Amino acid sequence: MRLLIMGPPGAGKGTQATKIAEFFGIAHISTGDLFRANLSEGTALGLEAKKYMDAGEYVPDSVTNDMVRDRLTHADAQAGFLLDGYPRTVAQVAELDEMLGDETLDKVLVLTADTDEVVGRLLNRAHKQGRADDTEEVIRRRLEVYEEQTAPLIDLYSSRGILVSVDGLGSIDEVAGRIHAVLNA
Ligand code: ADP
Repeated sequence: MRLLIMGPPGAGKGTQATKIAEFFGIAHISTGDLFRANLSEGTALGLEAKKYMDAGEYVPDSVTNDMVRDRLTHADAQAGFLLDGYPRTVAQVAELDEMLGDETLDKVLVLTADTDEVVGRLLNRAHKQGRADDTEEVIRRRLEVYEEQTAPLIDLYSSRGILVSVDGLGSIDEVAGRIHAVLNA
């Protein structure tokens, strides 16, 4: 099973991704988590990524693509994976296509959420976790970047016939229930 989950910042992707990956016994590959892990270990990659993350911008493809390419070779990803936060640009889709070859994605799940709702959720999370990329200005920029660079992937994957969409508004269990319904699980 090879899946991708996408959706605007604050739609609850990370939470649902963890549950889906556990349910199917597949690797959860979150580029945001990989960047944050690199940062807390103080690696060169982490320090480079921080500059962009703190501003709400995307980390350059040259950094991101190589990190994912490497992660996909790990043993736990061989039985399947859930990509979370990658690909996020049309150029990254082309790169992923090349990495996967014939082993194409089975489904792309989009979590939808209204802008005011996600801004509220992100500000709330910022207070609790103190994430540097969660000031209101940065949040608005992240949403803009999502609309410009990532929303076009919805049409792209829809034209491949593998897109499923779920309303991300509701309790964690409600949303999880909808996801299971569209994934036939
Ligand atoms: P969220 O789920 O809240 O959108 P993530 O944890 O997925 O945030 O990602 C945090 C940040 O990491 C992004 O705002 C971006 O700067 C960087 N990032 C994550 N994935 C990618 C990617 N595929 N390409 C470029 N930058 C990325």
